[in-house]
Amino acid sequence: MINLIKPFTADNNTKIFPDGLPFLKPYLPCFSEIENNLRSVISSGMLTKGNFNALYEKNIGEYIGTPNVIAVSSATTGLILTLLAMNITGEVLVPAFTFCATANAIVRAGATPVFVDCNPDTYTICPEDLERKITSGTQAIMAVHVFGVPAECENLKKIAEKNNLKLIFDSAHAMGSEVNGRKVGGFGDAEVFSTTPTKTLVTGEGGLISTNDNALAERIRIMKEYGNNGDYDNAFAGLNGRLSEMQCVLGIASLQYLKKSISFRNVLAEIYKSTLSDVSGIKFQMVPENIKTTYKDFSIVVDETLFGCSRDGLAEELQLMGIATRKYFYPALHEMKAFRNYFRSGLPITEYIARNILCLPLYPDLAEEDAKKVAVAIRSVQRKNFK
Ligand SMILES: *Cc1c(COP(=O)(O)O)cnc(C)c1O
Repeated sequence: MINLIKPFTADNNTKIFPDGLPFLKPYLPCFSEIENNLRSVISSGMLTKGNFNALYEKNIGEYIGTPNVIAVSSATTGLILTLLAMNITGEVLVPAFTFCATANAIVRAGATPVFVDCNPDTYTICPEDLERKITSGTQAIMAVHVFGVPAECENLKKIAEKNNLKLIFDSAHAMGSEVNGRKVGGFGDAEVFSTTPTKTLVTGEGGLISTNDNALAERIRIMKEYGNNGDYDNAFAGLNGRLSEMQCVLGIASLQYLKKSISFRNVLAEIYKSTLSDVSGIKFQMVPENIKTTYKDFSIVVDETLFGCSRDGLAEELQLMGIATRKYFYPALHEMKAFRNYFRSGLPITEYIARNILCLPLYPDLAEEDAKKVAVAIRSVQRKNFK
């Protein structure tokens, strides 16, 4: 019998995905699931500051286990509001290996970022380098849970307490991550999540601030409302950081899919790991034993000498095959024009990771077969370069 089905091969730059494989797709509820609530928002005319905002904050608080959750218009705004509410105007220790918004918020709040190197395995902020960079002007630490892997919460807490620093987490990637079985959201003085389409919980645009500190929560709530506590005699020059009711409706529905979404992401990550583990020159982000990660992104670090091709070369070859990838986070923040005037020396690990990292397509709707094809494509690039 003649086998009419051509065996799958990724040689010669065959377009494995003729229609292209996207890098990401937000995992959304069906329209029918939000239809009634959206209708009630429109028909009531309460488009902002209504019951859905209150319910969304309550549901998130129950999910992560913190008493105060504040919905905001973006994580960037959330980080700025948090810094403003804490009166942080001095130096803030921040990783250079993160998304630009982390440091943008520090500058926009009127404080000064001081860049810190990362751990070579988890890519989260390095506590030892951080301690070296503390000065008399340091007021806060803003750590990041990178791709869903939480920063070293306990170590950072000890350092923050010892040096009388505020501890803030940029948790944009980590809605659903856990440390020792405890959900991210209640560590440090405040944590800030993002709910844009690339993140695990989605409202379109949006963010969430969570904190165990009631007084801080109160200040943030006023700060998010122009700095006005209701008497029109503003206590602070604040912002409008509100999230609309329509977005809260989406957030409430999205939360119901979060568990499933994270479990799909973890399954796909395991497929990538098992199908690529024997490829020399490819390293995965380490996920410590006590950690559960969201896999907001699945990354590989490419060692050009061992793999036979650079990260940039691999990205180009995959693109030719129809596979979209992203170089998160490249360039690292301290190498961006916007941050060249800030303290940014001694970041060798960040520089190495940023130059060699590549994030692969990963989202709940990605078929397991497609993840395997991506792995085959990566192997084919290596074979070709060692020919
Ligand atoms: C996405 C992201 C942000 C910004 O979130 P917005 O809601 O778009 O403001 C901040 N920090 C990190 C690490 C992010 O990935």
